[in-house]
Amino acid sequence: MTTYFVSDLHLDATLPEIGAQFLDFLQGDARNAHALYILGDLFEVWVGDDDPDPHKADIAGALRALVDSGVPVSFLHGNRDFLVGTAFAERSGVTLLDDETVLTLDGRRVLVAHGDAQCTDDVDYQAFRAMVRDAAWQQQFLAMPLDARIAMAAQARAASKTSMAGKSAEIMDVNRDAVDRLMRSHGVDLLIHGHTHRPAIHEFELDGRPARRVVLGDWYTQGSVLAWNDGDYRLEVRPRA
Ligand code: MN
Repeated sequence: MTTYFVSDLHLDATLPEIGAQFLDFLQGDARNAHALYILGDLFEVWVGDDDPDPHKADIAGALRALVDSGVPVSFLHGNRDFLVGTAFAERSGVTLLDDETVLTLDGRRVLVAHGDAQCTDDVDYQAFRAMVRDAAWQQQFLAMPLDARIAMAAQARAASKTSMAGKSAEIMDVNRDAVDRLMRSHGVDLLIHGHTHRPAIHEFELDGRPARRVVLGDWYTQGSVLAWNDGDYRLEVRPRA
């Protein structure tokens, strides 16, 4: 049976074709899966589990149906949906994982992460990340009225777009040393992550031994899925119907 990994769907009511393709996937191939792992940025923005947005509710319902059919779904936070909380997890049936979790798949240790924490060359972003991942900041944000949270998230998004426009692609990619340190600290030779929207399987040497880094793609124009079968895996492009 296949285990699937996806990330960076950036689901949003303004881009319904992405949601439609993901719903097809959840109701189709994913039904026969061993498990599904969502490695962050499932949603374009998440301002709290109390957001009544019907598009998000549809996705939660479809995840719940998949879980109820017997396929476990795990989720770890991306830089857009880091506020996904336990109420959403209960509603959708997904298991929340810590960023940087080691899984055992077919006897093999596999490290999964979103990938943004390894973009250490982007100093501004790391400062922002440290702020918004702070429990006190999150508590204060979530205590604000929903409208104010939505407005603040839109503002942050606009500021991020402006800031990204002035940064090189290299700065916004993962830092090789940060990847090495992360993999070494978990004692793994395989890392799966998303975030950079540069789908690829990188082969390299870590401390004299072969290592691999699998980067999942985004879903803006097509689906991107890592399909794992008995220790073999392939990065699949799923064209939009
Ligand atoms: Mn991301």
